Amino acid sequence: MAREPERSCVGCRKRAPKADLLRIVRSAAGARVDLTGSASGRGAYVHRDPTCADAAVRRGAVASALRSGLTQEELARLRNEIEEASQAT
Ligand SMILES: [Zn+2]
Repeated sequence: MAREPERSCVGCRKRAPKADLLRIVRSAAGARVDLTGSASGRGAYVHRDPTCADAAVRRGAVASALRSGLTQEELARLRNEIEEASQAT
């Protein structure tokens, strides 16, 4: 069995297989959840869990992982997108 690549969740900082995490990517249109997992750009990973989304947004961990400031609007949208994705599974 091949080892799955692991990434750290920016919310709880635990490591998890990449497949269990949502990728957030900084695109030209702003920071978005990358549902394809293959968008180019600097990415951050977070569990499909509103608790982790909250922690990541509140601590500014997403912004620092993406090395870019995020507007309140972007943060709110990201949080919603993570919540939706976590409910879809
Ligand atoms: Zn987490």
